[in-house]
Amino acid sequence: MKADNGADADVIVIGGGLHGTSSALHLARAGLRVTLLEADYCGRHASGVNAGGVRTLGRHVAEIPLALASRNLWHRLADLTGDDAGFVPSGQLKVAETDAELDVLRQRVAELEALGFTHETMVDAKTVRELVPAIAPHVTGAIWVRDDGHALPYRAVTAFRLAAAKAGAVIHEATPAQRVEQAGTRWKVHTPRGVFHADRLVNAAGAWAGEFAAQIGEPVPVEAGGLMLMITHRVAPFVKPVLGATGRALSFKQYANGTVMIGGGLRCPADAQARHGEVDMLRLGTSAQTVTALFPHLGPLGINRAWAGVEAFMPDQIPVIGPSKAAPGVVHAFGFSAHGFELGPIVGQIVAELVTEGRAGLPIDAFAVDRFNQPRGAVAGALRD
Ligand SMILES: Cc1cc2nc3c(=O)[nH]c(=O)nc-3n(C[C@H](O)[C@H](O)[C@H](O)COP(=O)(O)OP(=O)(O)OC[C@H]3O[C@@H](n4cnc5c(N)ncnc54)[C@H](O)[C@@H]3O)c2cc1C
Repeated sequence: MKADNGADADVIVIGGGLHGTSSALHLARAGLRVTLLEADYCGRHASGVNAGGVRTLGRHVAEIPLALASRNLWHRLADLTGDDAGFVPSGQLKVAETDAELDVLRQRVAELEALGFTHETMVDAKTVRELVPAIAPHVTGAIWVRDDGHALPYRAVTAFRLAAAKAGAVIHEATPAQRVEQAGTRWKVHTPRGVFHADRLVNAAGAWAGEFAAQIGEPVPVEAGGLMLMITHRVAPFVKPVLGATGRALSFKQYANGTVMIGGGLRCPADAQARHGEVDMLRLGTSAQTVTALFPHLGPLGINRAWAGVEAFMPDQIPVIGPSKAAPGVVHAFGFSAHGFELGPIVGQIVAELVTEGRAGLPIDAFAVDRFNQPRGAVAGALRD
């Protein structure tokens, strides 16, 4: 039976970002009565304002199985949610600008191949130029991932939110969870709109997830940080793949309307309490210069707008995904450290598996919430991007 108003449910999801809405969809499809509580509106924070990169390229080794499975879901997002969220399978290219950078990329691909992963492939300078004819002549080669791409972030969250609601999830926006409390085998979530009850809780509160982890006696070192993006005026088509650099923080893509989105992990301050990031214009200027180093013809191009979002960062740059080790019936999914958009579709599926079956179909040990209490080196997946 479906809950009428969501006050009593099988599971409460806290947070209406991509991970919360994806969890709500998969949980509702599994037959559970789901209530989702969102403090602002779904997609208001990182999930709705990010660069939309659907990238398996450059992932931490522990994330690769999830990233590959998630990418499969991106390719059939319309079947999953009813909308493809503007997903474009453009491929992603990480270019080297020197021979030394090319060696770094070669080593990365060799390490992955030794582990059995073949999704990242080396391409030489000639192939880079075939893929992106306008690129500066000094580029020495690249890693190419053909099946990666990009999608429209707010549209993606909306697709999951609408599909979750259609599957029976009850979604309350402008409803911040203020306090969670265990009452026997049940959970109570206190909000300004009353108390919500459920057997299970999913903590998908993004940069604010640490508050709930602490409340259930499981403090984690998650921190809110800002990330910036800017978008240019329209320019004639010059690049199809999403393009990243090796020696500098840069990632950008051109949309069908000609505008170019420039980002690539550009950090800036964030005020978690005020719930906003703060654009650092100086840093953005440096990033714009990097783009013109790779594409000199873009020099005169104007910037249309810039913004900052608030993201949850972990000390080891990989998320927390898994059951609470301190409180029964709680599953965490947060701390995506600037690359969680791509993982959204699969993480919702994993959360649903954890809630319904108590185990995940993909390896998630590296994402355990208590890994920061372990002796150094005890966590699997030691290779970094
Ligand atoms: C500028 C920028 C660019 C990025 N680019 C990319 C990219 O190209 N590719 C990629 O893979 N990733 C990218 N990311 C990262 C990605 O956006 C995030 O990792 C991902 O969206 C995190 O999703 P989430 O659902 O965990 O968090 P969020 O989207 O932040 O959602 C958490 C939600 O919880 C809600 N919430 C918080 N507290 C409460 C409460 N007390 N009660 C109820 N609700 C609450 C918030 O309002 C929020 O809506 C980028 C991030 C930013 C900011």
